[in-house]
Amino acid sequence: MRLTVIGCSGSFAGPESPASCYLVSAEHEGRTHHLVLDLGNGALGALQRHVDPADVDAVLVSHLHPDHCIDLTGLYVTRTYHPEGVPSDRLPIHGPSRTEQRLHEAYEGLGAEGMSSVFEFHTLAPGTPTRIGPFVVDAFPVNHPVEAFGFRVTADGAVLAYSGDTDTCEELTPLLTGADLALVDSAFVEGRDEVRDIHLTGRRAAEAAVAAGGVRRLMLTHIPAWNDPEVCRSDAAAVWPGEVELARPDTTYEV
Ligand SMILES: [Zn+2]
Ligand SMILES: [Zn+2]
Repeated sequence: MRLTVIGCSGSFAGPESPASCYLVSAEHEGRTHHLVLDLGNGALGALQRHVDPADVDAVLVSHLHPDHCIDLTGLYVTRTYHPEGVPSDRLPIHGPSRTEQRLHEAYEGLGAEGMSSVFEFHTLAPGTPTRIGPFVVDAFPVNHPVEAFGFRVTADGAVLAYSGDTDTCEELTPLLTGADLALVDSAFVEGRDEVRDIHLTGRRAAEAAVAAGGVRRLMLTHIPAWNDPEVCRSDAAAVWPGEVELARPDTTYEV
C-alpha cells in the first residue's frame, strides 16, 4: 500500500500545500486501486499530478469542514461535464451523515437530485468496515466540534491510521494500535493553543500513539501555515521514542 500526501496544510491551504487530502493506492486484480481520504481546499488540483480523477475508486470524508470536503464540488464538475466523456459508474463517497446535503448546499443551484447522478453517498458506520477493492476501512468517531471520524485502512497486510481532526479521545487507541504508519493531526502547539476538544498538539499526538501501542511510524499532519513545523515536531519528540516524521505534500510513502 502506498500513501501519497496530496495536501497536509491544516485548516486552510498554505503556500506550499493544499488542505487535507491523502491518496492511498494498492495493486489488486491486475490494476491499481485508488482511495482518497478527504478532499479539502485546493486538493483537487494537486491530486491531478498523481492520478486522473476519473480513476479514483472511492472518497472517504472524515468530516464536513471545508478543509476536508470542499473540493468534492470540483470533482463533481469533472465527473459531470468532462468534454471527453464522463465515467459511467457513480463514485462512492463515504462520509458523515450530512455529506450529501452539505455538498448540495456548497455547490449552489443544483436541482433536487443534487450530486446523486455522479456520486453514490454512503454514511459512515463505526463498527461496520467499508470494503473497496483491496482496502478495508474502519471508521472511528473522534473528538472534534462536529461529527468526525478517523480512518484505519488495511491492505496488503499493512495498516495506515489517519486521525482526521481530533483532540485526545479513547477511540484513538483502537484506531492507531499496531499501525505501520500513523498520520496524526498536530495543528495545535503546546503552550499556545489552550482550547481543548478540537485538535491534538504534537505532544498529544505522540502520547496517543504511545498509549495505543505498536505504532511503527508517527507522521504529523494538518499543520497550519502559521505554525513552525519544527515546533510541532519537537513537541512530539518529547514523548515519541523514534523519529517524528512530518507529512510532505507531493510525497509518496510505502506503508
Ligand atoms: Zn481540518
Ligand atoms: Zn475540522
